[in-house]
Amino acid sequence: MAINSKQRAAAIMDAVRRAARQEQFLEVVSAAEARRRFEACVDHSPLQPEPLPLVAALSRVLAADVIAPVDAPPFDRSNVDGFALRAVDTAGASDGAARRLTLNPEVVACGVEPAIEVAPGTATTIATGGVIPRGADAVVMIEQTELIEDGPAIALRRPAASGQFISYAGSDIARGETLLRRGTRIGSREIGMLAACGLAAVDVVRRPRVAVLSTGDELVELGRPLRPGGVYDSNGAIIAAAIVEAGGEAIPFGAFPDEEVALELAMRGALDACDIVVLSGGTSKGAGDLSHRIVSRLGKPGILVHGVALKPGKPLCLAVIGDKPLVVLPGFPTSAIFTFHAFVAPLIRARAGLLPEAARTVTARVPVPIASELGREEFVLVSLIAGKDGLIAFPTGKNSGAVTAFSQADGFMAIEALASSLPAGSTAEVTLLGEAEGAPDLVVMGSHDIALDVVVGALAERGFKARTIAVGSQGGVNAASRGECDVAPVHLVDPATGIYNKHLLVPGLTLVPGWRRMQGFVFRPGDARFADRSADAALKIALADPAILMVNRNAGSGTRVLVEGLLRGARPSGYANQPRSHNAVAAAIAQKRADWGVAIEPVARMYGLAFLPIAPEHYDFLLVEARRERPAVQAFLDVLRDEKTRDGIRALGMEPADP
Ligand code: AMP
Ligand code: MG
Repeated sequence: MAINSKQRAAAIMDAVRRAARQEQFLEVVSAAEARRRFEACVDHSPLQPEPLPLVAALSRVLAADVIAPVDAPPFDRSNVDGFALRAVDTAGASDGAARRLTLNPEVVACGVEPAIEVAPGTATTIATGGVIPRGADAVVMIEQTELIEDGPAIALRRPAASGQFISYAGSDIARGETLLRRGTRIGSREIGMLAACGLAAVDVVRRPRVAVLSTGDELVELGRPLRPGGVYDSNGAIIAAAIVEAGGEAIPFGAFPDEEVALELAMRGALDACDIVVLSGGTSKGAGDLSHRIVSRLGKPGILVHGVALKPGKPLCLAVIGDKPLVVLPGFPTSAIFTFHAFVAPLIRARAGLLPEAARTVTARVPVPIASELGREEFVLVSLIAGKDGLIAFPTGKNSGAVTAFSQADGFMAIEALASSLPAGSTAEVTLLGEAEGAPDLVVMGSHDIALDVVVGALAERGFKARTIAVGSQGGVNAASRGECDVAPVHLVDPATGIYNKHLLVPGLTLVPGWRRMQGFVFRPGDARFADRSADAALKIALADPAILMVNRNAGSGTRVLVEGLLRGARPSGYANQPRSHNAVAAAIAQKRADWGVAIEPVARMYGLAFLPIAPEHYDFLLVEARRERPAVQAFLDVLRDEKTRDGIRALGMEPADP
């Protein structure tokens, strides 16, 4: 017995040591040094050209400049239906002195070569697109002439200018000119230009084939149900899409468990089949992080960089096997996509023949202090909003594990390695991401609620773009009092009076009623300890039994204030577990990491949990008075009163407040 438990303890210690083992990064280099090594060892020149029929060339990259082989138009062409003539014959024409021109016995339709010269005193009937006949130097519109039957002839009451209504040969495209430059991505407009020159095929750069692999025991293929502890392989999808955006062809290899033999086999296969290999995950040097170990034995020259003084993205690993680049991105989604854009996208673009992308930057003020790690260049994703005097950049506040941080950000700013923070009020350069849309019409900052999506949707239907930035109730109060948003959704109860939100008002702010959300005691259905009781009775039972675990809420949230009121100083087991959202509370209870908590009814229902009502919580909006007259703010107030919106809010289980 004694030996057994000793052996068991030793086995556990062994597992812990393996899990906690952190091999040191051999050498952490700066981002600039990492890029220098990568560029020095990896061929960044465009791949060889391949001819493609024009119809297949859409979104491909031109391999060489295209010199126009013909003129467009190919001949001098009439722009209107009318008469080709010599301008000099019309000089001095007026209402009092009409000029008469005899019509030649020819009608120049499209596609017909004219046979008769336009001699002095004559004109030739011509269609739009017709070839200007020899001798003519102008065209008059049919509407500006009178037909004389006994000529036949025309009379003109206005002089024509030489060249009038004529497109000259080569005026659109001149033979010999550079029509399109190499490195251009072919869109419909480029297809049109190539077609106008009669080109049926074009040379494009071969697209680099880029293998995408993911590794992690927890990864689950999209479309499959999540198992406990599993996460979807989102990196595989986002990286494949980003490869295509950068001009490459993504070859998905799928997600692999952290299993050396299978992963090594897959990586060797990927190196054989593709030009570039991108793997995400398993590079943190912790337990199960075996990517770099496999890379180090795949071949020469091997690993160039493992560890970059960059946040997010430190565990990035850059390698070359033979002449093929192999990159291991950190597994955390934001880190993965950040390092992809910093190191891999420029390589794919270059090999795809695209020209380097110039960074687009704007200057913005940072309203809140941002802490930063000393010794690492830190990139902070930000949302941009228009302030009173210039742009304001808000950190999106999501960590590098977040998938949405990147897609919800307008740009990022860098905090240099030697700074430990960026003080509030600093001015920073923000590099824009993607096609940043224009400034939003309405800025909503504060606590998020699912019914807010109904309001934002109704605004969108009226043509107003709202930007919601979830900074919590207290963050909303701060932003509203600084005048950085239009409205701030809040739900904070005044512990002294039990009244919601009124105590947050300061001069310049008013309160707009939103909706009521029922808060309640939440537990798993079938938990006999709580079933068929009132919330009060269930709470008594929960507090009496130390084996029953609660899940709390974060300080500063409205729900936490409510919880403290219920507990009256009690500190039940689980009190220290303080997640930041109703969803996290419900997930903890559903997954049996806790037995009860306080959350709103619609969220409890969404997770299939039982719910005992406690009290309605007021979710209202602080309105910045100085912004009330803006059209988007007026539309917002209108939408809140609209019965359709109110029905939508009710459908989500909330009760709209009286307007
Ligand atoms: P790793 O780099 O393997 O230590 O992973 C760090 C974190 O990123 C873990 O939370 C992983 O679950 C997560 N992660 C790794 N690979 C992926 C992936 N392909 N998709 C989504 N998350 C991932
Ligand atoms: Mg992993």
